[in-house]
Amino acid sequence: MTSRLDDHAIPPGEMIGILGGGQLGRMLGFAARAMGYRVAVLDPDPACPAAAIADRVVPAPYHSVEGALALAEGCAVVTYELEHVDAALVDAVETAGVPVRPGARALRMTQDRLAERRFVASLGIATAPWREVADDDALLAAADALGFPLRLKAPIGGYDGRGQLRIASRDEVPGSVARLGRPAGTALLVERELDFVAELSVITARAVDGGLAAFPVARNRHDAGILVESVAPAPIPDAIAGAALRIGARVAEALEAVGLVTAELFLLADGTLAVNELAPRVHNSGHWTIDGARTSQFEQHVRAICGLPLGAPAAEGPTAMVNLLGAGEPRDARLEGAAEALADPLVHLHLYDKRRVFERRKMGHLTVAGAADVEEGLARGRAALARLRWA
Ligand code: ATP
Ligand code: MG
Repeated sequence: MTSRLDDHAIPPGEMIGILGGGQLGRMLGFAARAMGYRVAVLDPDPACPAAAIADRVVPAPYHSVEGALALAEGCAVVTYELEHVDAALVDAVETAGVPVRPGARALRMTQDRLAERRFVASLGIATAPWREVADDDALLAAADALGFPLRLKAPIGGYDGRGQLRIASRDEVPGSVARLGRPAGTALLVERELDFVAELSVITARAVDGGLAAFPVARNRHDAGILVESVAPAPIPDAIAGAALRIGARVAEALEAVGLVTAELFLLADGTLAVNELAPRVHNSGHWTIDGARTSQFEQHVRAICGLPLGAPAAEGPTAMVNLLGAGEPRDARLEGAAEALADPLVHLHLYDKRRVFERRKMGHLTVAGAADVEEGLARGRAALARLRWA
C-alpha cells in the first residue's frame, strides 16, 4: 500500500538536524537513530547530552545563524528542542532549502508569552486573566483588575520556573518589575495565580498531511516551577480529557505545526480548563511515553517531521514518571543507588549524561510502567527515586 504521505517522506538514512543538545535532543536522537536516521546537533557545549548520539555536533550558541546553517548542511530537515529560536535563524535555514519543523509560525506564537496569550485568546481558549505591564505603576493598575496573588513573567527566555516571580499582595508590588531583572521598559506578562485542582498536559502530533494523533492526557505536578512528576492517562473524567484533547488539536492546527505541540493546562475547580503555556516540541511531561505508550513522543516527532505516518499514541497501561533532579553544590555528576532503585522490576532509569550536577538540575527521570493504577505507579516511582543520590 502506498501512503499519500510518501511524496513528502524523508527516508531513513537522511540526516536530521536538532537545534539544542540537551536531554530532549538526546532522546529525540535516540529515536531517530533507532529508525535509521543520522543526527546532527547544535549546542554551545560539545559534551552536551545529545553529543553521545550525534553523528555530528556543531558547537555554537543557539542563536547563531552561522551555526544553524552549518547544522543544516547535509540535513533533510531541522527541528528544535527549545522554542527560543530566532526567526532570523529559521528564515536562513529555510532559505538554504531545509525545512524547519514544527515550523516558524509555531515558534513565533510560542516563544513570547505575550504573543502566546494573544494567540490562545484568538482561538477562544481560556487562560488565566492577564495584562501586559512594563513598570510598577502599570502593575498596580493591573493588580486592581486581576486581584492577588499574581505571577509576573518575562515573556521570553523563561523555563523551569525561571524568569518569573510571585506577588502575594499589594505591599510586594513596588520593585517587583526590577526584581525580575529584565531591561527597564521590557513588556512583561502579569497574570492571576489560579487555584487549580490539577495541572494537565496534552501532546498532539500533527503530520505533514494535517492528520493528528494525541497522546493520552498527563497529570503533572510542579515544585517551585519545575516539573517533578507526571502520570498518564490522567485519572480524570472522560469529558475533561476530551476537552483537553480538543484544545491540543485546535492549537496544533492553528499553529500549522508539523511535529509535536504540547499544551500545559490548569484544571479548575469548576471543571474548566485554562492554557498555561504552549511548546512546539517534545516535552518533559511526555517522557512517560518512552516506556508507557505504543509510540514514544520522540519517535512520533521524528515520524511527523520526516513526513511519515504517525504511530499509535495509546498508553499500554497506567504509567508514572518522576524527574531525577540534582542536589547540592555544583560538582562532577556521579549517581549512586541505581541497583537499589531498579530492584523494583517495573522501574526504568533514564539518565541524561550531564557531566555536572547542581541543585535542581534535570539529570534524568524514572518511569514506572505496569502498575495497577497511576497512583501505585507514582508511589513506586517515588520509592525508587528516594534510593538515588548524587555522590
Ligand atoms: P516550564 O519550563 O517547566 O514549563 P516555565 O518557566 O515555562 O516552566 P510556567 O509554565 O509559566 O513556567 O510556570 C511553571 C509552573 O508554575 C506552572 O506549571 C505552575 O505550577 C506554576 N504557575 C505558573 N503560572 C501560574 C498561574 N497563573 N497560576 C498558578 N500556578 C502557576
Ligand atoms: Mg510551563
